[in-house]
Amino acid sequence: MFKLSKRLQNLPPYLFLEIDKAKRKARQEGRDIIDLGVGDPDQPTPSHIIEKLCQAAHEPATHRYALEQGMPALRQAIAGWYESRFQVRLDPESEILPLLGSKEGIAHFPLAFLNSGDYALVPEPCYPPYKSGSILAGARVYPVPLLESNAFLPDLKKIPGRICRKAKLLYINYPNNPTASTAEKGFYEDVVDFATKNKIIVISDLAYSEIAYDGYRPGSFLEIEGARDIGIEFHSLSKTYDMTGWRIGWACGQPKLISALAKLKSNIDSGIFSAVQLAGITALEGPQGHIQDICQLYQERRDLLISGLTSLGWQVNSPRATFYVWLRTPDRSDSLKFSRLLLEKADVVVTPGVGFGRYAEGYIRIALTVSKERIQEAVERLKRII
Ligand SMILES: *Cc1c(COP(=O)(O)O)cnc(C)c1O
Repeated sequence: MFKLSKRLQNLPPYLFLEIDKAKRKARQEGRDIIDLGVGDPDQPTPSHIIEKLCQAAHEPATHRYALEQGMPALRQAIAGWYESRFQVRLDPESEILPLLGSKEGIAHFPLAFLNSGDYALVPEPCYPPYKSGSILAGARVYPVPLLESNAFLPDLKKIPGRICRKAKLLYINYPNNPTASTAEKGFYEDVVDFATKNKIIVISDLAYSEIAYDGYRPGSFLEIEGARDIGIEFHSLSKTYDMTGWRIGWACGQPKLISALAKLKSNIDSGIFSAVQLAGITALEGPQGHIQDICQLYQERRDLLISGLTSLGWQVNSPRATFYVWLRTPDRSDSLKFSRLLLEKADVVVTPGVGFGRYAEGYIRIALTVSKERIQEAVERLKRII
Protein backbone atom coordinates (compact mmCIF):
# COMPACT_ATOMS: atom_id res chain seq x y z
CA MET A 1 0.00 0.00 0.00
CA PHE A 2 2.84 2.39 0.77
CA LYS A 3 5.09 1.27 -2.04
CA LEU A 4 7.27 4.14 -3.19
CA SER A 5 6.88 5.49 -6.70
CA LYS A 6 9.38 4.32 -9.31
CA ARG A 7 10.62 7.87 -9.34
CA LEU A 8 11.68 7.75 -5.70
CA GLN A 9 12.93 4.19 -5.94
CA ASN A 10 15.16 5.20 -8.84
CA LEU A 11 17.04 7.80 -6.84
CA PRO A 12 20.64 6.85 -6.10
CA PRO A 13 21.20 5.51 -2.58
CA TYR A 14 22.16 8.18 -0.09
CA LEU A 15 25.71 7.11 0.68
CA PHE A 16 26.35 9.71 3.35
CA LEU A 17 23.81 7.94 5.53
CA GLU A 18 26.29 5.64 7.21
CA ILE A 19 28.63 8.48 8.16
CA ASP A 20 25.69 10.62 9.32
CA LYS A 21 24.51 7.81 11.57
CA ALA A 22 27.96 7.10 12.96
CA LYS A 23 28.42 10.83 13.66
CA ARG A 24 25.13 11.04 15.57
CA LYS A 25 25.98 7.96 17.57
CA ALA A 26 29.43 9.29 18.47
CA ARG A 27 27.88 12.58 19.63
CA GLN A 28 25.33 10.72 21.75
CA GLU A 29 28.21 8.90 23.41
CA GLY A 30 29.52 12.30 24.40
CA ARG A 31 32.55 12.24 22.12
CA ASP A 32 33.92 15.60 20.96
CA ILE A 33 33.40 15.38 17.21
CA ILE A 34 35.10 17.81 14.81
CA ASP A 35 32.77 17.97 11.84
CA LEU A 36 34.64 18.81 8.64
CA GLY A 37 31.87 17.18 6.64
CA VAL A 38 29.14 19.75 6.20
CA GLY A 39 29.26 22.44 3.53
CA ASP A 40 27.40 24.98 5.60
CA PRO A 41 29.12 28.25 6.60
CA ASP A 42 29.66 28.69 10.35
CA GLN A 43 29.63 32.50 10.31
CA PRO A 44 26.46 34.50 11.01
CA THR A 45 24.61 36.51 8.37
CA PRO A 46 25.83 40.17 8.45
CA SER A 47 23.79 42.11 10.98
CA HIS A 48 22.51 44.81 8.59
CA ILE A 49 20.76 42.04 6.62
CA ILE A 50 19.22 40.58 9.78
CA GLU A 51 18.03 44.01 10.85
CA LYS A 52 16.33 44.54 7.50
CA LEU A 53 14.54 41.21 7.93
CA CYS A 54 13.31 42.15 11.41
CA GLN A 55 12.07 45.51 10.28
CA ALA A 56 10.38 44.07 7.18
CA ALA A 57 8.77 41.26 9.18
CA HIS A 58 6.87 43.89 11.17
CA GLU A 59 5.25 45.19 7.98
CA PRO A 60 1.89 43.42 7.50
CA ALA A 61 2.27 43.67 3.72
CA THR A 62 5.09 41.11 3.92
CA HIS A 63 2.83 38.53 5.57
CA ARG A 64 0.85 37.71 2.45
CA TYR A 65 1.56 35.33 -0.42
CA ALA A 66 4.44 36.59 -2.54
CA LEU A 67 2.88 35.46 -5.79
CA GLU A 68 4.70 37.67 -8.26
CA GLN A 69 7.70 35.27 -8.45
CA GLY A 70 10.18 37.77 -7.13
CA MET A 71 9.57 41.42 -6.32
CA PRO A 72 10.55 43.77 -9.16
CA ALA A 73 12.95 45.49 -6.73
CA LEU A 74 14.70 42.17 -6.00
CA ARG A 75 14.97 41.34 -9.69
CA GLN A 76 16.45 44.78 -10.22
CA ALA A 77 18.93 44.32 -7.38
CA ILE A 78 20.03 41.02 -8.92
CA ALA A 79 20.40 42.65 -12.34
CA GLY A 80 22.47 45.44 -10.78
CA TRP A 81 24.67 42.95 -8.96
CA TYR A 82 25.25 40.87 -12.13
CA GLU A 83 26.15 43.90 -14.15
CA SER A 84 28.62 45.28 -11.63
CA ARG A 85 30.13 41.88 -10.89
CA PHE A 86 30.27 40.31 -14.38
CA GLN A 87 29.41 43.13 -16.78
CA VAL A 88 26.46 41.01 -17.87
CA ARG A 89 23.28 43.01 -18.45
CA LEU A 90 20.11 41.08 -17.68
CA ASP A 91 16.51 42.13 -18.19
CA PRO A 92 14.96 41.94 -14.70
CA GLU A 93 11.55 40.98 -16.13
CA SER A 94 12.40 38.18 -18.51
CA GLU A 95 15.89 37.00 -17.64
CA ILE A 96 15.82 36.71 -13.83
CA LEU A 97 13.76 34.44 -11.56
CA PRO A 98 14.18 34.53 -7.76
CA LEU A 99 14.09 31.11 -6.09
CA LEU A 100 13.58 29.58 -2.65
CA GLY A 101 17.31 28.86 -2.58
CA SER A 102 18.98 27.66 -5.76
CA LYS A 103 18.61 23.97 -4.83
CA GLU A 104 14.90 23.88 -5.55
CA GLY A 105 15.38 25.58 -8.91
CA ILE A 106 18.17 23.22 -9.86
CA ALA A 107 16.12 20.18 -8.83
CA HIS A 108 12.88 21.42 -10.46
CA PHE A 109 14.38 22.60 -13.74
CA PRO A 110 14.53 19.16 -15.43
CA LEU A 111 10.76 18.76 -14.89
CA ALA A 112 10.28 21.65 -17.28
CA PHE A 113 12.35 20.22 -20.15
CA LEU A 114 13.04 16.51 -19.84
CA ASN A 115 10.88 13.63 -21.00
CA SER A 116 11.44 9.97 -20.30
CA GLY A 117 14.16 8.64 -22.54
CA ASP A 118 15.97 11.99 -22.61
CA TYR A 119 19.43 12.18 -21.15
CA ALA A 120 20.88 14.70 -18.73
CA LEU A 121 24.66 15.06 -18.87
CA VAL A 122 25.69 15.19 -15.25
CA PRO A 123 29.25 15.64 -14.03
CA GLU A 124 30.49 13.16 -11.50
CA PRO A 125 31.30 13.94 -8.72
CA CYS A 126 28.57 16.55 -8.38
CA TYR A 127 26.14 18.37 -6.14
CA PRO A 128 23.47 15.65 -5.69
CA PRO A 129 20.36 17.57 -6.98
CA TYR A 130 21.69 17.51 -10.59
CA LYS A 131 21.26 13.77 -10.60
CA SER A 132 18.16 13.46 -8.45
CA GLY A 133 16.30 16.27 -10.23
CA SER A 134 16.88 14.59 -13.60
CA ILE A 135 15.82 11.18 -12.29
CA LEU A 136 12.69 12.59 -10.66
CA ALA A 137 11.80 14.05 -14.06
CA GLY A 138 11.96 10.53 -15.48
CA ALA A 139 15.11 11.17 -17.50
CA ARG A 140 18.29 9.16 -17.67
CA VAL A 141 21.55 10.39 -16.25
CA TYR A 142 24.71 10.11 -18.30
CA PRO A 143 27.60 10.65 -15.88
CA VAL A 144 30.42 12.74 -17.30
CA PRO A 145 33.54 12.03 -15.24
CA LEU A 146 35.48 14.90 -13.69
CA LEU A 147 38.98 13.47 -13.55
CA GLU A 148 42.01 14.92 -11.85
CA SER A 149 43.98 14.30 -15.07
CA ASN A 150 41.67 16.82 -16.80
CA ALA A 151 41.68 19.35 -13.93
CA PHE A 152 38.24 18.06 -12.87
CA LEU A 153 36.65 19.49 -16.03
CA PRO A 154 34.32 17.36 -18.16
CA ASP A 155 35.91 16.09 -21.38
CA LEU A 156 33.07 16.93 -23.76
CA LYS A 157 34.76 15.25 -26.74
CA LYS A 158 34.48 11.90 -24.99
CA ILE A 159 30.67 11.99 -24.79
CA PRO A 160 29.43 9.58 -27.49
CA GLY A 161 27.42 11.08 -30.37
CA ARG A 162 24.43 8.83 -29.71
CA ILE A 163 24.23 10.25 -26.17
CA CYS A 164 24.65 13.84 -27.36
CA ARG A 165 21.69 13.33 -29.69
CA LYS A 166 19.45 12.26 -26.81
CA ALA A 167 20.80 14.74 -24.28
CA LYS A 168 18.78 17.81 -23.38
CA LEU A 169 20.74 19.22 -20.45
CA LEU A 170 24.33 19.66 -19.36
CA TYR A 171 25.22 20.71 -15.83
CA ILE A 172 28.42 22.59 -15.04
CA ASN A 173 29.54 23.99 -11.68
CA TYR A 174 32.67 26.11 -11.24
CA PRO A 175 34.03 26.87 -8.70
CA ASN A 176 33.13 23.25 -8.06
CA ASN A 177 31.63 21.41 -5.15
CA PRO A 178 33.13 18.99 -4.16
CA THR A 179 36.46 19.15 -6.08
CA ALA A 180 37.11 22.90 -5.52
CA SER A 181 38.32 23.12 -9.13
CA THR A 182 37.77 26.25 -11.24
CA ALA A 183 37.10 26.96 -14.91
CA GLU A 184 38.56 29.48 -17.32
CA LYS A 185 36.92 31.31 -20.20
CA GLY A 186 38.26 28.83 -22.75
CA PHE A 187 36.38 26.01 -21.07
CA TYR A 188 33.13 27.97 -21.08
CA GLU A 189 33.64 28.76 -24.78
CA ASP A 190 33.99 25.04 -25.51
CA VAL A 191 30.78 24.43 -23.56
CA VAL A 192 28.91 27.03 -25.62
CA ASP A 193 30.17 25.43 -28.88
CA PHE A 194 29.27 21.94 -27.71
CA ALA A 195 25.81 22.92 -26.49
CA THR A 196 24.96 25.03 -29.54
CA LYS A 197 26.04 22.30 -31.93
CA ASN A 198 24.13 19.59 -30.05
CA LYS A 199 21.12 21.72 -29.04
CA ILE A 200 21.67 21.07 -25.36
CA ILE A 201 20.61 23.41 -22.55
CA VAL A 202 23.44 24.41 -20.22
CA ILE A 203 22.84 24.80 -16.51
CA SER A 204 25.67 26.63 -14.81
CA ASP A 205 25.70 26.57 -11.02
CA LEU A 206 27.62 29.57 -9.72
CA ALA A 207 26.97 29.21 -5.99
CA TYR A 208 30.65 29.74 -5.09
CA SER A 209 31.52 32.70 -7.33
CA GLU A 210 32.36 34.94 -4.36
CA ILE A 211 34.30 32.43 -2.29
CA ALA A 212 37.78 32.69 -3.81
CA TYR A 213 41.36 33.34 -2.71
CA ASP A 214 44.72 34.73 -3.69
CA GLY A 215 43.15 37.47 -5.81
CA TYR A 216 41.24 35.04 -8.03
CA ARG A 217 37.82 36.25 -9.27
CA PRO A 218 35.65 33.52 -10.82
CA GLY A 219 33.78 34.44 -14.00
CA SER A 220 30.21 33.75 -15.08
CA PHE A 221 29.20 31.40 -17.88
CA LEU A 222 26.87 34.13 -19.12
CA GLU A 223 29.86 36.35 -19.96
CA ILE A 224 30.59 34.13 -22.96
CA GLU A 225 29.18 35.08 -26.34
CA GLY A 226 26.25 32.82 -27.20
CA ALA A 227 25.86 31.52 -23.66
CA ARG A 228 22.68 33.48 -23.08
CA ASP A 229 21.05 31.84 -26.08
CA ILE A 230 21.40 28.33 -24.70
CA GLY A 231 21.93 28.54 -20.96
CA ILE A 232 20.78 29.50 -17.54
CA GLU A 233 22.83 30.25 -14.43
CA PHE A 234 21.87 29.51 -10.86
CA HIS A 235 23.05 31.71 -8.05
CA SER A 236 22.43 31.96 -4.38
CA LEU A 237 22.81 34.25 -1.41
CA SER A 238 23.62 31.20 0.72
CA LYS A 239 27.40 31.08 0.52
CA THR A 240 28.08 34.72 -0.38
CA TYR A 241 26.26 36.22 2.61
CA ASP A 242 26.14 33.25 5.02
CA MET A 243 22.40 32.85 4.46
CA THR A 244 21.98 29.10 3.89
CA GLY A 245 18.98 28.87 6.22
CA TRP A 246 17.13 31.81 4.67
CA ARG A 247 16.33 30.11 1.35
CA ILE A 248 16.89 32.71 -1.32
CA GLY A 249 18.64 32.41 -4.66
CA TRP A 250 17.87 32.93 -8.33
CA ALA A 251 18.12 31.67 -11.89
CA CYS A 252 19.07 33.94 -14.76
CA GLY A 253 19.69 33.69 -18.48
CA GLN A 254 17.75 32.55 -21.56
CA PRO A 255 14.18 33.96 -21.26
CA LYS A 256 12.39 30.81 -22.48
CA LEU A 257 14.19 28.74 -19.87
CA ILE A 258 13.35 31.28 -17.19
CA SER A 259 9.66 31.48 -18.11
CA ALA A 260 9.32 27.69 -18.22
CA LEU A 261 10.82 27.37 -14.75
CA ALA A 262 8.51 30.16 -13.54
CA LYS A 263 5.49 28.38 -15.00
CA LEU A 264 6.47 25.13 -13.32
CA LYS A 265 7.11 26.81 -9.98
CA SER A 266 3.79 28.66 -10.06
CA ASN A 267 2.26 25.20 -9.66
CA ILE A 268 4.50 24.18 -6.79
CA ASP A 269 5.27 27.08 -4.44
CA SER A 270 3.93 30.51 -3.62
CA GLY A 271 7.07 32.60 -3.53
CA ILE A 272 9.77 33.68 -1.11
CA PHE A 273 8.69 35.36 2.17
CA SER A 274 8.63 39.04 1.19
CA ALA A 275 10.66 40.06 4.25
CA VAL A 276 13.41 37.68 3.10
CA GLN A 277 13.25 39.22 -0.37
CA LEU A 278 13.66 42.71 1.12
CA ALA A 279 16.59 41.50 3.21
CA GLY A 280 18.02 39.93 0.03
CA ILE A 281 17.93 43.33 -1.67
CA THR A 282 19.84 44.76 1.30
CA ALA A 283 22.39 41.95 0.97
CA LEU A 284 23.00 42.66 -2.72
CA GLU A 285 22.93 46.45 -2.53
CA GLY A 286 24.36 47.10 0.94
CA PRO A 287 27.99 47.14 2.11
CA GLN A 288 29.98 44.21 0.67
CA GLY A 289 32.93 44.17 3.10
CA HIS A 290 31.65 40.94 4.64
CA ILE A 291 32.63 38.94 1.55
CA GLN A 292 36.27 39.93 1.85
CA ASP A 293 36.21 39.10 5.55
CA ILE A 294 34.87 35.59 5.09
CA CYS A 295 37.26 34.87 2.22
CA GLN A 296 40.13 36.01 4.44
CA LEU A 297 38.87 33.71 7.18
CA TYR A 298 38.50 30.68 4.89
CA GLN A 299 41.90 31.41 3.38
CA GLU A 300 43.58 31.35 6.80
CA ARG A 301 41.81 28.10 7.62
CA ARG A 302 42.80 26.66 4.26
CA ASP A 303 46.46 27.53 4.75
CA LEU A 304 46.47 26.06 8.25
CA LEU A 305 44.84 22.83 7.08
CA ILE A 306 47.05 22.45 4.01
CA SER A 307 50.25 22.98 5.99
CA GLY A 308 49.02 20.59 8.69
CA LEU A 309 48.12 17.84 6.21
CA THR A 310 51.33 18.36 4.27
CA SER A 311 53.30 17.92 7.49
CA LEU A 312 51.58 14.55 7.87
CA GLY A 313 52.94 13.60 4.47
CA TRP A 314 49.54 13.83 2.77
CA GLN A 315 49.43 15.08 -0.80
CA VAL A 316 46.94 17.87 -1.11
CA ASN A 317 46.35 20.81 -3.44
CA SER A 318 45.45 24.22 -2.10
CA PRO A 319 42.08 25.30 -3.57
CA ARG A 320 41.72 28.81 -4.97
CA ALA A 321 37.94 28.86 -4.54
CA THR A 322 35.09 27.27 -2.53
CA PHE A 323 35.46 26.29 1.11
CA TYR A 324 36.40 22.71 0.32
CA VAL A 325 39.65 20.79 0.18
CA TRP A 326 39.49 17.72 -2.08
CA LEU A 327 42.15 15.07 -1.75
CA ARG A 328 42.94 11.44 -2.33
CA THR A 329 42.81 9.22 0.71
CA PRO A 330 46.48 9.22 1.75
CA ASP A 331 46.66 5.44 2.02
CA ARG A 332 44.75 5.01 -1.26
CA SER A 333 42.03 3.14 0.60
CA ASP A 334 38.40 3.49 -0.34
CA SER A 335 36.77 6.69 0.77
CA LEU A 336 34.14 5.22 3.07
CA LYS A 337 36.65 3.04 4.86
CA PHE A 338 39.00 5.96 5.35
CA SER A 339 36.23 8.28 6.57
CA ARG A 340 35.11 5.61 9.03
CA LEU A 341 38.68 5.28 10.32
CA LEU A 342 38.97 9.05 10.90
CA LEU A 343 35.71 9.09 12.81
CA GLU A 344 36.46 6.02 14.91
CA LYS A 345 40.08 6.82 15.74
CA ALA A 346 40.20 10.62 15.70
CA ASP A 347 36.59 11.79 16.17
CA VAL A 348 36.98 13.73 12.93
CA VAL A 349 34.24 13.72 10.28
CA VAL A 350 35.04 14.17 6.57
CA THR A 351 32.86 13.47 3.53
CA PRO A 352 33.66 10.26 1.61
CA GLY A 353 33.96 10.95 -2.12
CA VAL A 354 31.91 7.93 -3.15
CA GLY A 355 28.79 9.71 -1.88
CA PHE A 356 29.19 12.06 -4.87
CA GLY A 357 29.36 9.23 -7.41
CA ARG A 358 31.68 6.42 -8.34
CA TYR A 359 34.20 8.60 -10.18
CA ALA A 360 34.89 10.26 -6.83
CA GLU A 361 35.86 7.02 -5.13
CA GLY A 362 39.29 7.30 -3.51
CA TYR A 363 38.81 10.95 -2.54
CA ILE A 364 37.53 12.76 0.54
CA ARG A 365 36.16 16.28 0.95
CA ILE A 366 37.12 18.44 3.91
CA ALA A 367 35.07 21.59 4.59
CA LEU A 368 36.68 24.74 5.99
CA THR A 369 33.59 25.60 8.02
CA VAL A 370 35.07 25.28 11.51
CA SER A 371 37.42 27.58 13.44
CA LYS A 372 41.20 27.56 13.10
CA GLU A 373 41.47 26.12 16.61
CA ARG A 374 39.32 23.17 15.62
CA ILE A 375 41.24 22.66 12.37
CA GLN A 376 44.51 22.67 14.35
CA GLU A 377 43.01 20.21 16.81
CA ALA A 378 41.85 17.97 13.95
CA VAL A 379 45.36 17.92 12.49
CA GLU A 380 46.82 17.03 15.93
CA ARG A 381 44.38 14.15 16.23
CA LEU A 382 45.25 12.89 12.75
CA LYS A 383 48.93 12.93 13.72
CA ARG A 384 48.20 10.51 16.51
CA ILE A 385 46.44 7.96 14.33
CA ILE A 386 48.39 8.02 11.09
C1 LIG B 1 25.49 25.32 -1.49
C2 LIG B 1 25.29 25.02 -2.92
C3 LIG B 1 24.24 25.59 -3.63
C4 LIG B 1 23.32 26.60 -2.97
O1 LIG B 1 22.19 26.04 -2.48
P1 LIG B 1 21.01 26.95 -1.92
O2 LIG B 1 19.83 26.07 -2.18
O3 LIG B 1 20.95 28.21 -2.70
O4 LIG B 1 21.29 27.16 -0.48
C5 LIG B 1 24.12 25.34 -4.98
N1 LIG B 1 25.02 24.55 -5.61
C6 LIG B 1 26.05 24.01 -4.97
C7 LIG B 1 27.03 23.21 -5.74
C8 LIG B 1 26.21 24.20 -3.61
O5 LIG B 1 27.24 23.62 -2.97
